[in-house]
Amino acid sequence: MSSGGNELAIGKTRISLIQGDITKQATDVIVNAANSSLMGGGGVDGAIHRAGGPTILDECRQIVSRTGRLDTGKAVITTGGDLKAKYVIHTVGPVWHGGNSGEAELLSSAYRESLKLATDYKLKSISFPSISTGAYGYPVPEAAEIALETVVEFLRDGLTLLQEIFFVLYDSGTYHVYSTKLTELAG
Ligand code: ADP
Repeated sequence: MSSGGNELAIGKTRISLIQGDITKQATDVIVNAANSSLMGGGGVDGAIHRAGGPTILDECRQIVSRTGRLDTGKAVITTGGDLKAKYVIHTVGPVWHGGNSGEAELLSSAYRESLKLATDYKLKSISFPSISTGAYGYPVPEAAEIALETVVEFLRDGLTLLQEIFFVLYDSGTYHVYSTKLTELAG
């Protein structure tokens, strides 16, 4: 394991933190912090649909008509539409209700199911936003710890083809919290 504060290598995979807009990422897939309706919304969800165009929403609609609303902690994949990313993985993080409603396990599941889907599609690079820490109110320090630990645990299996995992944090406060947690995890 090597560490930096914004990078951590585990086996052949590198985890990197960057501050920026996930819709600009050229990774094979970007992850959307969606809601169960898959019909778009505010925050990163709105930004992804605006930048990616209507084909993403069309595919989301087809998924919902086939299998119904997406449960919290689950993930599905669509085209990336007009984005640089080839695909979008839509996952639903938990709404924060104080921490005693299974939030931690559901948040971990959202990351794990996304990583599994990317691995099933043999993708090499993925970008995550900070799931649940916007409108869904999850405290950033707790969410960052779960996000990073879930990724590290997933990589320890050594079965993924993913080479690059990015966390694209929109604001500097969130970026710095993730950076502190990554340093702790590497230590
Ligand atoms: P949730 O409903 O899961 O809380 P939000 O979209 O409200 O999702 O917020 C999740 C995180 O995504 C927040 O940290 C928010 O600042 C961030 N965010 C918003 N727009 C973007 C973007 N274009 N790229 C990356 N992150 C973004």
